[in-house]
Amino acid sequence: MPEPAPSRVDKIDVERDRGLTLIFGDGRSCFFPNEQLRRDCPCATCRGLRDAGEPAWPRPGGPPSARIEGAELVGAWGVSFQWNDGHSTGIYPFDALRSWCDQEVAADEAR
Ligand SMILES: [Zn+2]
Repeated sequence: MPEPAPSRVDKIDVERDRGLTLIFGDGRSCFFPNEQLRRDCPCATCRGLRDAGEPAWPRPGGPPSARIEGAELVGAWGVSFQWNDGHSTGIYPFDALRSWCDQEVAADEAR
């Protein structure tokens, strides 16, 4: 039998005030806090800010905490969020989220 693709997502759980939990096809469960998701937003605008050495979040004058106002599946490969600061252009591919998650596990194990 073929191995399930690790980046296949079996379950998506959005807690608007907390973050996103994904359960991947291989059973790995990953939690992503709102602040991390918002700060590491993969859209071109936020990437440009980070490339310029500025935080993509929080922005001056913006809300001090990140809250998910809405979430939408993007095909079968990603998810996008409407944030409480009005930002909504970032699409988070599941395979990128999976590698964030794997990196954190590796960092935990190195501690
Ligand atoms: Zn963004």
